[in-house]
Amino acid sequence: MHGMQLDAKIPSGPIEAKWDQHRFALKLVNPANRRKYDVIVVGSGLAGASAAASLGELGYNVKVFCFQDSPRRAHSIAAQGGINAAKNYQNDGDSVFRLFYDTVKGGDYRAREANVYRLAQLSPLIIDHCVALGVPFAREYGGVLSNRSFGGAQVARTFYSRGQTGQQLLLGAYAAMSRQIAEGRVQVLPRREMLDLVVVDGQARGIITRDLVHGTIERHLGHAVVLATGGYANVYYLSTNAKACNVTATYRAHRRGALFANPCFTQIHPTCVPASGEYQSKLTLMSESLRNDGRVWVPRDASDKRAPEQIPEAERDYYLERRYPSFGNLVPRDVASRAAKAECDAGRGVGPEPERRGVYLDFAEAIGRHGRETIRDRYGNLFEMYERITADDPYRTPMKIYPAPHYTMGGLWVDYNLMSTIPGLFVLGEANFSDHGANRLGASALMQGLADGYFVIPYTLADYLARTRYAAIDTQHAAFAQVETEVRQRLDALLAPKQQGGRNPDHYHRQLGRLMWDHCGMARNEAGLKRTLEAIPRLREEYRHGVNVTGGPEQLNQALERAGRIADFFEFAELMCLDALERRESCGGHFREEYQTAEGEALRDDEHFAHVSAWEYRGEGERPVEHRELLRFERVPLTQRSYK
Ligand SMILES: Cc1cc2nc3c(=O)[nH]c(=O)nc-3n(C[C@H](O)[C@H](O)[C@H](O)COP(=O)(O)OP(=O)(O)OC[C@H]3O[C@@H](n4cnc5c(N)ncnc54)[C@H](O)[C@@H]3O)c2cc1C
Repeated sequence: MHGMQLDAKIPSGPIEAKWDQHRFALKLVNPANRRKYDVIVVGSGLAGASAAASLGELGYNVKVFCFQDSPRRAHSIAAQGGINAAKNYQNDGDSVFRLFYDTVKGGDYRAREANVYRLAQLSPLIIDHCVALGVPFAREYGGVLSNRSFGGAQVARTFYSRGQTGQQLLLGAYAAMSRQIAEGRVQVLPRREMLDLVVVDGQARGIITRDLVHGTIERHLGHAVVLATGGYANVYYLSTNAKACNVTATYRAHRRGALFANPCFTQIHPTCVPASGEYQSKLTLMSESLRNDGRVWVPRDASDKRAPEQIPEAERDYYLERRYPSFGNLVPRDVASRAAKAECDAGRGVGPEPERRGVYLDFAEAIGRHGRETIRDRYGNLFEMYERITADDPYRTPMKIYPAPHYTMGGLWVDYNLMSTIPGLFVLGEANFSDHGANRLGASALMQGLADGYFVIPYTLADYLARTRYAAIDTQHAAFAQVETEVRQRLDALLAPKQQGGRNPDHYHRQLGRLMWDHCGMARNEAGLKRTLEAIPRLREEYRHGVNVTGGPEQLNQALERAGRIADFFEFAELMCLDALERRESCGGHFREEYQTAEGEALRDDEHFAHVSAWEYRGEGERPVEHRELLRFERVPLTQRSYK
């Protein structure tokens, strides 16, 4: 079972010195030689755009692909709350070590220490770099950058641009990339979807894309391929992710040999606008930053049907403050989500009958303390978004929120150099499994994506290029032809006429999503996972024989785009459930109902599960093989996570 030796290439030496020593040991590419290398970057979000800008600046030829019409529409643009960095501007006790510690603990001790330490070390550089690029972070009156608090930390280390931090950071990275476009070193190919990876002699050498406007299938060759293609929370159909986010790029690379790590580690975010009906297609996040000032509560009495403003203080249960007095409303997301579910399961939820799947997030006290204008300055755009969706005014009445799928900690397995198990295939940002363990703390995805792109890949990719010998090939190579044929066959199969009674792609996706949410979502158990593992192949067959894809291949065809992505979700969902089944413990967002403390908290089993599960694809219909990277904790002692 654990045959393949996974070498994470963690440098030796004390954790504080690992990255510096490693950077010195990595080979460089002479500036005059860099233009001889072609690098493919798939994805133009924070991870991809920052990587492309940095690699272009160094002098490589970079091709960037994205499926949107502009790189600026990558999903990173949606990030609201902020980005962490250990600057200690607040003088409240922050340090690189504390950010490292909080992140390892927040991830419930299922992340690699050395990577997390590097992330914390790089975090201050990210802020300096972004400020230099012109990112308008919020500032205090005297001009210094402001900070706010996010979950899982008792210091304020989150830098932000109102509720639009991702947008401003992405514009910064895009501007940096645009400079390289003007210099001729970066070429952006928008409206292109990577449909497969081409591996030649064991090395990642290219990709097959579909031009989404004309339907043309294209071959692209490079000396290395960098995937920065984001996360897969849309496997649940309803999530806070943009509708087009999908798993295709990473899953296809997995099928070509890249191990997939911890696919079951998904994050359910506690503060989302609750789902309102069967035909909803998307959920909306209310940023975690709101928990700086908002207080979460439910009526003490489950039968209390009064409007929230009419329920007196003494009859409210501020259950997070009660259960976790030291972190209160700022407990990590997995803890807050589970607590909300527990209240709703016990019948104390609020919102439409009969489900009542909601809890209050109340700003009345903060408005009383700071005044409406201050609260508007901090969260105005989020309040406006909430009011547009629900027609309730959060300045007057509490928001109603409920947990929803949001982020995926799982991803392609990468070593310390961010290289997957396919030489030459690097994976950055949400697409890799790297730094967040079993639960990601708020404001740390932007930090990780930008650390990967601006500060890690420029060094580690150079080392790979400098050490690698390349066969002189072009896109006429048989491997390109073979992969292209397979891509065309998959598209033809989706477009082929289907049996009577077939339905559109979304119909099947909704069913898959419901199944995954019910059995591989916020809570999981052995019986449910086993049933789901039987149900998915049946549903997948129904999809294969029933999905109706209108239109043709050589034109703009969004039904075809969706159908391909959903087909990959169907295969991938099985891997998620298998991973969730095999991990017989609870940790972070992976909550197995069989393994919990008397107080309903996640109960880890460090003796048997302090490892990364990395899955190897073994062929259609074959059981994937699990490999394990054992995690060693030298600096953060393994303890029961407590936020009390
Ligand atoms: C609503 C919301 C709010 C958030 N707020 C925060 C926050 O405040 N702080 C924080 O730290 N994190 C936040 N996150 C998480 C964070 O935004 C994401 O994890 C991060 O932006 C992901 O960046 P990325 O570069 O890895 O991927 P993305 O930004 O998702 O970019 C993926 C790119 O890959 C391209 N792509 C994907 N597949 C293909 C393919 N097959 N072919 C071609 N191109 C492809 C896409 O076109 C896109 O350009 C939030 C997430 C959501 C959903």
